[in-house]
Amino acid sequence: MNILTLLEKRRHTALEISRLIGIKEKEVYQHLPHIEKSVKGRGRRLNMTPYYCISCGFKFKDRKRFYPPGRCPLCREERISEAFFGIM
Ligand SMILES: [Zn+2]
Repeated sequence: MNILTLLEKRRHTALEISRLIGIKEKEVYQHLPHIEKSVKGRGRRLNMTPYYCISCGFKFKDRKRFYPPGRCPLCREERISEAFFGIM
């Protein structure tokens, strides 16, 4: 099982992917840009649900990077939601 096959079936968080594949969560974020390129070549895309701030609800809608933001630009809190990744 690889990340691509996993995400074609359904959406997962990076933590879920790391557990299912048996790699570190940090490594998942390193793989995602390569997966994005590879699916683009096949006319599909890697979709990410926006991260959001758990304290104030701010959504990181325009974020292009896959790894989680460090803190909220509005309230400065560091409690940020997980994002779900899937191949559409
Ligand atoms: Zn916030």
